[in-house]
Amino acid sequence: MSDYVKDIMAQVVAKNPAQPEFHQAVEEVVESLALVLEKHPEYRDAKIIERIIEPERVLMFRVPWVNDEGKVEVNRGYRIEMNSAIGPYKGGLRFHPSVNLGILKFLAFEQVFKNSLTTLPMGGGKGGSDFDPKGKSDNEVMHFCQSFMTELCRHIGPNTDIPAGDIGVGGREIGFMFGQYKRIRNEFTGVLTGKGLNWGGSLIRPEATGYGAVYFGREMLATRGETYKGKVCLVSGSGNVAQYACEKILDLGGKPVTVSDSGGYIYDKDGIDREKLAFIMELKNVRRGRISEYAEKYSSAVYTKVDRNGEFNPLWNHKADCAFPSATQNEINLKDAQNLIANGVYVVSEGANMPTVPEGVNLFVKEKILYGPGKAANAGGVSTSGLEMSQNSMRYNWTREEVDAKLASIMKAIHTQCVDAAEKYGCPGNYVNGANIAGFLKVADAMLDQGVV
Ligand code: NDP
Repeated sequence: MSDYVKDIMAQVVAKNPAQPEFHQAVEEVVESLALVLEKHPEYRDAKIIERIIEPERVLMFRVPWVNDEGKVEVNRGYRIEMNSAIGPYKGGLRFHPSVNLGILKFLAFEQVFKNSLTTLPMGGGKGGSDFDPKGKSDNEVMHFCQSFMTELCRHIGPNTDIPAGDIGVGGREIGFMFGQYKRIRNEFTGVLTGKGLNWGGSLIRPEATGYGAVYFGREMLATRGETYKGKVCLVSGSGNVAQYACEKILDLGGKPVTVSDSGGYIYDKDGIDREKLAFIMELKNVRRGRISEYAEKYSSAVYTKVDRNGEFNPLWNHKADCAFPSATQNEINLKDAQNLIANGVYVVSEGANMPTVPEGVNLFVKEKILYGPGKAANAGGVSTSGLEMSQNSMRYNWTREEVDAKLASIMKAIHTQCVDAAEKYGCPGNYVNGANIAGFLKVADAMLDQGVV
């Protein structure tokens, strides 16, 4: 670590105590940028790093609501408006009991670079709440979403800040929040993305993050003249990203064999085919049940409980070619990374944000596997949100094929930017450095142009 990076990290830790995920995200980016900063003293002189790690604005607010028993509940709401150098703030909302300021700051920071890579004009933001939608009735979720939006609506707008979904926030939650925004502001605008199809949503938006992660893997495979045909794929999570990653793996000839939730995972030796995937979608999106039910229905599958504090996650310890971590941050520890490599995995395309711990990332880079970090590989979701914003502004809808083709070409462009930047700065094949450098340069140059703001 250079003295400059050490200094920056000391400041970050001192100024943002008890935010380990934020420290982790900043350190990875700043380490990648060492070469850029050596070549370009103008970024150091203008204190671009010191400015880019400081959110432009942090909002934190009370979210009171009344549950079905008539009792008052209180949650905490957040919105981090991280950087608007290249466009309005854009990034998802996460509803999960683990949500805190540090986690949202890490996600908002990552979002700045990811959005820059998409080639679309979007700044970075993130928000959410420690509210847990699990086990809540639709009525309770609606009351929570309405209270959350009653405060948030003062701070967002179609030209200012455009939230979307993330963990715990899908079509149902976006609908309730959009309804409340429209009621309070008396305007029908594209203030949220991930909307329903008949009220301003874009085709392919629900599919986009999972599809995009698989498209990114396809680009990485193509650098070795390979395709997904016959490749065995490990997928974690069973939510939005995981479901559509499985669907696209199937489309492209691969074989997904695992999915998981916070209780455990299933391994299906025969593969998760389309009929089984439809069962998972109904289980998770309609009945909101547990993944263990899959193994009760299909005898080819085994369910294993997973203790998140265990030494390793057995999901990552099966023979396979590709892995798509699509659940949450730091779900692959060093032992998991070692297990993946020992089991023959040589393509890792991250659907989740920062799912691999830094030691695992270093191992993937050292072993020269095809490793696509989340900020590049999962950028398909926000890219399609950008396409939803364009369609809302034009008051026009593209067809499914048109949006899918645009998504595929954006993922290709992101891949090319990563490869080119890595090569230009002397680390060919290193997608981590490539993504961080390419994402940074566009934002940093815009910040230089716009003066000290
Ligand atoms: P969902 O809420 O739809 O699904 C999340 C899945 O991950 C569920 O299966 C959930 O299990 C599991 N999970 C969540 N938290 C944990 C945990 N702490 N431990 C173990 N399992 C967990 O979310 P998404 O699919 O939308 O998001 C998944 C990941 O992808 C996140 O990292 C998100 O930031 C990232 N992402 C999402 C985008 C999107 O467009 N939705 C865009 C870019 C990135 P359970 O149901 O038991 O909680």
